[in-house]
Amino acid sequence: DAMTAGHERGPVRAARGAERTAKSWGAEAAKRMLMNNLDPEVAEHPEDLVVYGGTGKAARSWEAYDAIVRTLDELEPDETLLVQSGKPVGVFRTHEWAPRVLIANANLVGDWATWPEFRRLEALGLTMYGQMTAGSWIYIGTQGILQGTYETFAAVARSLGRESLAGTLTLTGGAGGMGGAQPLAVTMNEGAVLIVDVDASRLQRRVAHGYLDEVAPDLDTAVARAVAAKESGAARSIGVVGNAALVFPELLLRGTPVDIVTDQTSAHDPLAYLPVGIPFEEWKAEAARDPEGFTARARGSMAKHVAAMVGFQDAGAAVFDYGNSIRAEAQLGGFDRAFAFPGFVPAYIRPQFAEGRGPFRWVALSGDPEDIRKTDEAIKALFPDNAGLVRWLDKAAEKVHFEGLPARICWLGYQERHLAGLKFNEMVAAGELAGPIVIGRDHLDAGSVASPYRETEAMADGSDAIADWPLLNALLNTASGASWVSIHHGGGVGIGRSIHAGQVTVADGTPLAAEKLARLLTNDPGTGVMRHVDAGYERAREVARERGLIVPMP
Ligand code: NAD
Repeated sequence: DAMTAGHERGPVRAARGAERTAKSWGAEAAKRMLMNNLDPEVAEHPEDLVVYGGTGKAARSWEAYDAIVRTLDELEPDETLLVQSGKPVGVFRTHEWAPRVLIANANLVGDWATWPEFRRLEALGLTMYGQMTAGSWIYIGTQGILQGTYETFAAVARSLGRESLAGTLTLTGGAGGMGGAQPLAVTMNEGAVLIVDVDASRLQRRVAHGYLDEVAPDLDTAVARAVAAKESGAARSIGVVGNAALVFPELLLRGTPVDIVTDQTSAHDPLAYLPVGIPFEEWKAEAARDPEGFTARARGSMAKHVAAMVGFQDAGAAVFDYGNSIRAEAQLGGFDRAFAFPGFVPAYIRPQFAEGRGPFRWVALSGDPEDIRKTDEAIKALFPDNAGLVRWLDKAAEKVHFEGLPARICWLGYQERHLAGLKFNEMVAAGELAGPIVIGRDHLDAGSVASPYRETEAMADGSDAIADWPLLNALLNTASGASWVSIHHGGGVGIGRSIHAGQVTVADGTPLAAEKLARLLTNDPGTGVMRHVDAGYERAREVARERGLIVPMP
């Protein structure tokens, strides 16, 4: 079966080093990043081509994967490969400034944009769920979300009038590819955290990678240890195997002294959320046998899960939705107070977006961790006055275990990112690094996403669902020198609920790369400032004025 042939081919691993087999670094970088997404060290379920986020895939099938790799090796430096939902569909003559790959994943016409219709088309082999960075080949493992999660929890501490989370207990669910960043983000903020997942292997993976301190043998032990950590002010993360829809209500009932509650189970996809009453071993078979029935049961469980979260809020805890659509799903499950707590973007992140700040990330194609150490130092030297950034880079260097190709993430804004890109390109040109650097970002960024339950929830002008912005972002990045550009539907929050775009480029040390980096890494975050100026955010207006962004209508 072509869909599962990955089992026999052995694990995928990207080539390392400064020699390429493709004809341009743009194509070589795309190929290595596709492979890196499927590296078992990186991907959650590589045998199914699933990278993270429920069923976020890197290619539609193993046959499609092979064809993409083959085509990228043969692609001329003035050609562009088109990828339609994980399948390579055409090669066209363009020019050197054009992207080497253009990607569209999971897009559906509005009235058809539902999970049942998506799954019908997926079963016919016509589409693929690309999540955000799975199908656009710039996932860098759990670190990719770590800084955003760290920043969010730092903002939570500030909102509680605290300097750090020391002395607090956070309760959360979901220790998957993204959710697995939560325990380390909380302990980096000096807090205690209890994290619940139905899948013991996910919790163990986080322990192995240094994101989680321990897995407790049972709930009573877990709670005792978590409360002891809170009381002694210790930074400690404790995992426990269980269903959040049972554990959250149980802890509420017991009056467990929880200060902060959130969740990152894969609630955006009801088939990726295990309902109460279905044994873990029967999850996949049951979801395949009766997707409609399974969805109803999952939503019923989410209603209980979210009702407990609201209960904690009523009891005085800080509670927020962590971008997985669990409020919307719980509402569909019949719980009418689901939106009693806010999403994390309006609560903590929007002011950063107004400055074009977001998750800038880079990857060393050499495979040499020294390249990341040197680029870390370069960023600190570029932005010495940004204390939060310097602290983050120091903590990341100490705590982050690389998964796949060595990579780094840090949040940078408009008129900052291109300085970093140009510096990396100079370092490659001067031979200071052992190979080219891939530079990209999450689709969760200031100007690249329309997602009314997450990034664009509660916009000042009510423009939450306007999806012109990510399309303009992708078109502009295509015209600004990106190596690959993608437009996806449904990432993060599920089918029907988001449209978002990504861009990736490569600093190969050439003067042409410098020209492209200067434009691309200015224009891309510039669209974030533009979008927030248009929506009426005063800080965005100031940034546009101070940093010279032209917005014709005030
Ligand atoms: P994932 O599929 O890798 O992990 C989800 C985890 O939830 C799995 O380990 C699974 O076992 C667990 N789970 C499922 N049902 C459960 C239940 N009833 N009780 C306890 N655990 C349960 O997904 P991920 O990549 O970690 O993403 C998690 C969610 O966060 C997704 O909805 C994703 O779209 C969203 N997300 C948010 C952000 C953000 O910035 N806030 C970023 C990326 C993804």
